[in-house]
Amino acid sequence: MEICYLGIGSNLGKRSKNLISAINKIKSLKRTKVIKVSRFFITDPVGGPAGQGKFLNAAIKVKTNLSPLMFLKQLKKIEWELGRKENVFNGPRTIDLDILFYGERTIKTKILTVPHPRLFFRNFVLKPLAEII
Ligand code: ADP
Ligand code: MG
Repeated sequence: MEICYLGIGSNLGKRSKNLISAINKIKSLKRTKVIKVSRFFITDPVGGPAGQGKFLNAAIKVKTNLSPLMFLKQLKKIEWELGRKENVFNGPRTIDLDILFYGERTIKTKILTVPHPRLFFRNFVLKPLAEII
């Protein structure tokens, strides 16, 4: 089992409902256990189109036996199930699930970079993460 930290965020629809649904879906993933969930933080959008709404962000600590790529695949599936259709870079989204850390591994492939490359510049990630790490 590896300890992972995930960042989750939403700024479309019922934001807290989206976060709770995503967390419940992560809880029901096989070979994965949710250990801690941070409080939900209201944050200002960073980058992206002007005029989009504030985000609700949280961080969660999990233990998993899924490989990094399999874990990413499951998270993308959850994003899709919760209705994420948007594809604008830094734009509004129903749900965003990011792998912040996967154990102590560093990964650099086309579809997955860990630690998450923008984590260190984003207070909306660092604040909830600091609460549980
Ligand atoms: P962001 O989360 O930076 O706003 P997106 O959610 O639109 O961007 O993700 C775009 C792509 O980033 C995903 O399809 C995924 O393949 C890739 N990606 C690279 N590294 C990670 C990571 N650590 N966690 C989640 N997605 C990642
Ligand atoms: Mg993302």
